[in-house]
Amino acid sequence: MRIAYIGLGAMGRPMAANLAARFDTRVWNRTASVAEQHAREHGSTAVTDLTDLADVDVVCSCLPTTVEVEAVARVLAPALGEGTVWLDHTSGDPQQARDLAAYLGSEGVDYLDAPVSGGTRGAEAGALTVMVGGDGDALGEVAAVLDVVAGRVVHVGPSGAGMAVKAVNNALLAASLWAAAEGFAALEQAGVPTSVALEVVNASSGRSNATENLFPERVVTRAFPNTFALSLLAKDVGLARATLDAGGVEAPILHLVDRLTADAVEALGGDVDHTELVRMVERAAGVELR
Ligand code: NDP
Repeated sequence: MRIAYIGLGAMGRPMAANLAARFDTRVWNRTASVAEQHAREHGSTAVTDLTDLADVDVVCSCLPTTVEVEAVARVLAPALGEGTVWLDHTSGDPQQARDLAAYLGSEGVDYLDAPVSGGTRGAEAGALTVMVGGDGDALGEVAAVLDVVAGRVVHVGPSGAGMAVKAVNNALLAASLWAAAEGFAALEQAGVPTSVALEVVNASSGRSNATENLFPERVVTRAFPNTFALSLLAKDVGLARATLDAGGVEAPILHLVDRLTADAVEALGGDVDHTELVRMVERAAGVELR
């Protein structure tokens, strides 16, 4: 099976590395030197011209938003063979994903929205959770590819459904980060260090991925390793808000989380790690969560 991988960012690099260990994998990246380095380090083949990917069986993409995926697809899709499957791991916009599926379908290409969860660690381990929207037969054709990158694959519904699930998942992540930061700030004020509070919460019913992993590894250590940009989390919460609004669901909590996260991007810049949003709570409360 010949695979193309488009977008060698924090997630794409390790996913494409795992694929290159199993399949003939060609890689394209906007900054070409990144693809060349990937080829040297992982045995993939770097291409500089998108149309050099024309004869692959599967196209994988992992770009910031659906807008960038569509721009690439407009160049590449006319050159692709009938029946090629496009597996889009971008956390994208559900409606734009449906439109892209229709466009690619008109070129004979089956598009699956297949965003991922599990972070760079999950990508390196080939243990991502993949939520797929689109045609079940096309999904069956890429089972061997997903087997390499995923620990769990869930076919969540028709085109766009994978993007919607990912957006809501990440809105829940943001909500738990904000809520935990507020709670721990109050406990710091009351004389309980965050590291001590975490010992209790993580053995109790208030625990979450934020308290079990993100606070101990990134916040309390003050390391804030930059693996998932705050701007990307804000993008996802915005997409969740659009999904809620489209469904006519009143969502005061997630609307607030959306506004707070957008404000954090304004104040801190979008390039910092997403967990740095806790600094907003720290600043307002005059404490540091340690
Ligand atoms: P990065 O910012 O690390 O990488 C972005 C990639 O997109 C780079 O390869 C970049 O190329 C490329 N790119 C940016 N703009 C364009 C453009 N206009 N045209 C073509 N290529 C472009 O992002 P991540 O890998 O962190 O995230 C990618 C997707 O995965 C996002 O949708 C994100 O929300 C999602 N995601 C991220 C997770 C994480 O933990 N990081 C976890 C789960 C999902 P260049 O090298 O030239 O800049």
